[in-house]
Amino acid sequence: MRAVTGFAAYGPHEPLRPIEFTRRELRSDDVAVRVTHVGVCHSDLHAIESLAAGAPPLVPGHEFTGEVTAVGAEVTRFRVGDPVAVGNIVDSCGRCASCLAHREPYCREFPTTTYGGRDLRDGSPTQGAYSTEYVARDAFVYALPAGLDPAAVAPLMCAGVTTWAPLRRAGVGPETEVGVVGLGGLGHLAVRFAVALGARVTVFTTSAAKEADARALGADDVVVSTDPGAMAAVAGRLDLVLDTASAAHDLAPYLGALRLDGTLCVLGLPEQYVVSPMSLLGRTLTVSGSAGTVETQEMLDFCGAHGLTADVEVLPLEQVDTALARLAEGDVRYRFVLAVTA
Ligand code: NAP
Ligand code: ZN
Repeated sequence: MRAVTGFAAYGPHEPLRPIEFTRRELRSDDVAVRVTHVGVCHSDLHAIESLAAGAPPLVPGHEFTGEVTAVGAEVTRFRVGDPVAVGNIVDSCGRCASCLAHREPYCREFPTTTYGGRDLRDGSPTQGAYSTEYVARDAFVYALPAGLDPAAVAPLMCAGVTTWAPLRRAGVGPETEVGVVGLGGLGHLAVRFAVALGARVTVFTTSAAKEADARALGADDVVVSTDPGAMAAVAGRLDLVLDTASAAHDLAPYLGALRLDGTLCVLGLPEQYVVSPMSLLGRTLTVSGSAGTVETQEMLDFCGAHGLTADVEVLPLEQVDTALARLAEGDVRYRFVLAVTA
């Protein structure tokens, strides 16, 4: 087994603590990656907050970059020393209709998540990349685009692809009016991508102080969502709204912002949402979600070609609690990244 060190959560209100554990020896199609940078996703915070009392320790981290340290006997895509990136799924059954169509995030047997999941072959629990090394199947490892900062690429592997996928699915381009709810890790990348694809972008934020940042990212309009008058002014205007807010809220105002046949793509993972049936009455709307990862290579190619990455604040792994506490308070512009072995 391969010895690894990292930081683990032991309960919802406890600081993370150092942990030593092991990764599996490489299978023939495995790649071992020395983790240099891991992004701190709000999903990590949700996962820690929902840990049950007495649950085994959880090592979070599902968007990371690093360097290949070893490859299995049948791996041909990577060599030792290659810079790589990994996102929030690391395996899938490979046999179901979704997998055969290379839509692995929608695997009927449920894909193996980077942490908090179960290895498909031996049933062992997966532990994430707030740790020095990760072992994953080669098909779920991606080459780092040349010329991009690995720290700023790490958030692309979850926050990035989660917002990229629905933009592409909707065919967003110069004729499209896109709304982005919440200017956080996902939200700032959603704006950057939608602008780069040529869309006209409206940001909905609860933080009036973020208006200048939203405009600097390329947003055309900024609506403070707590202002009913400003919200009413956008009614019926948008083709697609990506809702990235991390807390429970009423979806009605965003359904109301859509034009006929518009789509609300709900990306946040609060415990619940409020959806009044009246907000759907007489409308022809679609409400969707996104599992991310399927369009990862396309997104990385696009980011490489356009020089796009996340805005990051890098802290050493030992300061993970500072990062999580500040993320919980919304004090981040726009993604914390932990330097692990950089
Ligand atoms: P984040 O960086 O904390 O950003 C979330 C943003 O939500 C905040 O910046 C804030 O934006 C807004 N917000 C916070 N509290 C709010 C409230 N009470 N009402 C309305 N808006 C509020 O989080 P993130 O990492 O981008 O993640 C966002 C959500 O997506 C989380 O729930 C996360 O678990 C989920 N997620 C889902 C997937 C997926 O595959 N579906 C993948 C990754 C993450 P403003 O200050 O602009 O209002
Ligand atoms: Zn995430």
